[in-house]
Amino acid sequence: MELRGAMDGWGCPLCRLVAKAEMTYLDSLNYERVLDFNTWDALQASRGMCEPHSRAWERLSGCALGLAMVNRVVLLNLQRATDPKKSPAKSGLFRRAATPAHLAEALESSGECPACTLAADTATRFADVLLKDIRESESQALLRESGGLCLPHLRLTLARPGARRGESDLIAVHREVWAALMAELEEFIRKNDYRFQGEKMTPGESTSWRRALDISVGLKRGA
Ligand SMILES: [Zn+2]
Ligand SMILES: [Zn+2]
Repeated sequence: MELRGAMDGWGCPLCRLVAKAEMTYLDSLNYERVLDFNTWDALQASRGMCEPHSRAWERLSGCALGLAMVNRVVLLNLQRATDPKKSPAKSGLFRRAATPAHLAEALESSGECPACTLAADTATRFADVLLKDIRESESQALLRESGGLCLPHLRLTLARPGARRGESDLIAVHREVWAALMAELEEFIRKNDYRFQGEKMTPGESTSWRRALDISVGLKRGA
């Protein structure tokens, strides 16, 4: 099972599955020189990809031509949107000049970045799988080992319709994970005090601050 595979190792399994889906998608955009109509429509509506996804694409080798083609269309649409001859404010009886607010509105996107849409769909799909699977003790053990879901993905999972079925197992696993991490964090903080600096930190204690960060904001993209 794909979900259980993503629980092998530290870190929120939904973050890992989302990152994998994003990379597969960006790879496909990078190598298929001709994008399909749906992708073009989505990229035009979103005025190109969002900053993190554009930058992730930029890190792929051979990205230049694909990014040039996408952003050429973005620029073309910016020219159209700001063309004074086509300003909606100038048509009609009073022929008012477009205000900066009109222009700001004309430059807005009308759709979400397609990679963000894919990421959100992937997260909800696997959140639903997890809600069913978490009732198995094997799945609970794997999730505990992986450190559980990050806070954004835990909230998303609990907000899914049908979350009631997996909710108590999910919360029980997370409370155990958080209690163990809390103990390590407290030792980490205590041993940073100069009075206790002679006491050696365990490997778990020395990485506890980073794992707590992963839990509160999610795994670092591209990590
Ligand atoms: Zn996550
Ligand atoms: Zn995006």
